[in-house]
Amino acid sequence: MAVKLEYVWLDGYKPTQSLRSKTKLVKEFNGKVADAPGWSFDGSSTEQAPGGSSDCLLKPVFVVPDPQRKNAYLVMCEVMNADGTPHVSNGRALIEDDDNDFWFGFEQEYFLWDNNINRPLGFPAGGFPGPQGPYYCSVGAANAYGRNIIEEHLDACLDAGLNVEGINSEVATGQWEFQIFSKGAKLAGDQIWIARYLLERIGEKYGVSVNWHCKPLGALDWNGSGMHANFSNSLLRNAGKKEIFDKVCEAFRPVIKEHIEVYGADNHLRLTGKHETASIDDFTYGLSDRGASIRIPVGVAANGWKGYLEDRRPNSAADPYKVAARIIKTVKSVKA
Ligand code: ADP
Ligand code: MN
Ligand code: MN
Ligand code: MN
Repeated sequence: MAVKLEYVWLDGYKPTQSLRSKTKLVKEFNGKVADAPGWSFDGSSTEQAPGGSSDCLLKPVFVVPDPQRKNAYLVMCEVMNADGTPHVSNGRALIEDDDNDFWFGFEQEYFLWDNNINRPLGFPAGGFPGPQGPYYCSVGAANAYGRNIIEEHLDACLDAGLNVEGINSEVATGQWEFQIFSKGAKLAGDQIWIARYLLERIGEKYGVSVNWHCKPLGALDWNGSGMHANFSNSLLRNAGKKEIFDKVCEAFRPVIKEHIEVYGADNHLRLTGKHETASIDDFTYGLSDRGASIRIPVGVAANGWKGYLEDRRPNSAADPYKVAARIIKTVKSVKA
C-alpha cells in the first residue's frame, strides 16, 4: 500500500510565518529522513518566490510517524532556493549548533479560539467571562475549556515521538501550554513546529482554531502568550559559579534589539512590565524573577550554579528556529 508523506514547511509571510503542507504518495518508505525524497512547491503562492521563477525546494530534515493517518509520516522540511542555498525564510539554516551542545526547552502558550464569536474558547458570545484567577491549572467545566482537544493533541505528540515534558491550562480563559525539551537546537525547533502542526490539524476536527498571537485580547486585562526559551550549553551546565551565569546574562544586554527582532511579532503589546513580563526596552535578569527578561531558575543556585537560563521574552508566535539561532549566537560570544 502506498505510504503518505506529509511535507510540512514554513511559508514566507511577514511578520509571522505560517505552516503549509502537502501530501506525497510513495510506494514504500522506511521512516528515515535520509530516505525521504526531496520535493518542491510553488513559492509564488506562499510569498517565497516571484511568479516567473516560482519553484522552491523542500529539503526533508525531520521525520516522525503521523499519529492520525494510516500508513503515514510527517516530514518537516527546510525551504531552499532552486540553486540549493537556504531560502531567506529558512530560520533553521541559521542555527549554529552542529555538535548539539545546546539544549532547549520551549514553553509554548496559545489560545484555543472560537471562530463563531472570534474570542477565546470559553468566552460567552458578546461578553466576557469572569476575570483571570480560576483558569490557571484548573479543572471543571466552569473554568477549563477545550480539554478534549489538548488531550488528543498530547497523545498525538507522544505517538509521534515528540519529547513533550508537560501541559497545563494557563492564566486566561481558553489558554493552554505545552513544553517540549530537546538536546540539540534544530531538533527542538523541529519538534515545536510538528507539535504546532498537529494542534492546528486536530483543531480542524472541532472547528476550533489556534490563536498564536502574543496578545489576542489586546490591551484588555488578560494575559498574553509567550514561548519561554529555556536553554543551556555545556558552559552553563558545568559552570559551578555565579559569575558565569552573570557573564552569559550580561552578553544579552547589548543585543536587546537583535533578540526582540526574532522574538515574535507585536511583542510590545505583551512585554509591558505587567502580567509576569519585563518591559520590551529593558534588560533585566535575576534569580527566580518572573518579572525579569531572563530568569535564573532557583534550582541553578541550589545546584551549585549549574544548569540553564530562561529567556522569558520570546512570544507564542515566534519561530523557535530563529529564537534558538539568536540565543546561540549570543551565548557563544561569551568566553569563559
Ligand atoms: P516554568 O513554567 O516554571 O517556567 P516549565 O516547567 O513550564 O517552567 O518549563 C521549564 C522547561 O525548562 C522545561 O521544558 C524543561 O525541559 C526545560 N529545562 C530543564 N532543564 C534544562 C536544561 N538544562 N537546558 C535547557 N532546558 C531545560
Ligand atoms: Mn511553564
Ligand atoms: Mn506558562
Ligand atoms: Mn517559564
